[in-house]
Amino acid sequence: MKTIYMDNNATTRVAPEVLETMLPFLTDLYGNPSSAYSFGGRVARNIRESREQASALLGASPEEIIFTSCGSESDNTAIMSALNTGKDKAHIVTTRVEHPAVKVLCNELVKRGCRVTEVPVDRKGELDMDRYKESLTSDTAIVSIMWANNETGVIFPVEEAAQLARSRGILFHTDAVQAVGKIPIDLQQSAIDMLSISGHKLHAPKGIGVLYVRKGTKFSPFLIGGHQERGRRGGTENTASIIGLGKACELAADRMDEENTRVKSLRDRLERELLNRIPHSRVNGGGAPRLPNTTNISFEFVEGEAILLRMDEFGICASSGSACTSGSLQPSHVLRAMGVPFTMAHGSVRLSLSVYNTDEEVDEVIDKLPPIIEKLRAFSPFWKPEGQACASGT
Ligand code: PLP
Repeated sequence: MKTIYMDNNATTRVAPEVLETMLPFLTDLYGNPSSAYSFGGRVARNIRESREQASALLGASPEEIIFTSCGSESDNTAIMSALNTGKDKAHIVTTRVEHPAVKVLCNELVKRGCRVTEVPVDRKGELDMDRYKESLTSDTAIVSIMWANNETGVIFPVEEAAQLARSRGILFHTDAVQAVGKIPIDLQQSAIDMLSISGHKLHAPKGIGVLYVRKGTKFSPFLIGGHQERGRRGGTENTASIIGLGKACELAADRMDEENTRVKSLRDRLERELLNRIPHSRVNGGGAPRLPNTTNISFEFVEGEAILLRMDEFGICASSGSACTSGSLQPSHVLRAMGVPFTMAHGSVRLSLSVYNTDEEVDEVIDKLPPIIEKLRAFSPFWKPEGQACASGT
């Protein structure tokens, strides 16, 4: 059975071009880039090139790029650095819909005496900018707001939020893990001080990330050790993955147009057809600006997990929330923050596409999903056989 992979916000396939670029660094070119001899120096040159490729995708300078192990490490580093360099400031402003890499860290920091304000979102998933402005105070050490939401694809006005933070002298970090490679980013004219990337969301391998730190930003390393990354992140470099990530950034820049035309039109057709064919369904975040590849649809009176299991029988990979939270029976914190009713939040499925998806795959999902929902609804106590909803639960 062929796999139809529509879970690209969870992880992506490594692009063949990326793998090809990496392979020599997993075989013959195994030198340590810090070594004095040219066998190591050769690898150091390739890392420099990768830093240039990553900075080019962001409109940044190579010195502003720190390679990390993942998006979570980048997020943790940014927030901890702001607290460590922010004198006595112990207030963090974030949102109710962040990824656990930020959300769970903030919960932990509350236990250690920090104050955290989570700015709410509205029913469309859009940030409440008035509440955001009110939340900025003289003891705010950092604002950390995601650029695009991993579950709904909703895009936040991070530039406007960053300008406001800067006008108050507050550091601004954005978790751009889902945004990078899908929408254009230019940090040159921006007020964003720090930004996180994860390699495995943009066709590089797992276990590699980037933290962008604007030149002049006070910084305190998270991983203390060697002099690597100019003393900003200790640990011998993950050379092959760094070099793969550079290539992935170059490919992402080349494919940005395709992402926003062909991939977007695949997503739009998929969404339209599913809504047309399946009653009592709706797109979460549909009224807000969104990433071109993501749709999050709720099918009322069915369990998202049950839908995923049936889709899996046809080789279709999707998610019923963040990859990290699936398996939990709690409805997603993102959908709850948006006020999505319980019965709708439980029946949500996220489909996230990439440039590797085809028209035929979209046809297949449009064909398979409606009968799956119909069969599952037949077992629901809230669903009448003739297709009329009789109750909406709690
Ligand atoms: N931030 C967002 C928005 C994500 O979607 C993810 C991964 O799902 C992360 C951070 C964590 O990235 P990583 O898996 O590289 O730690």
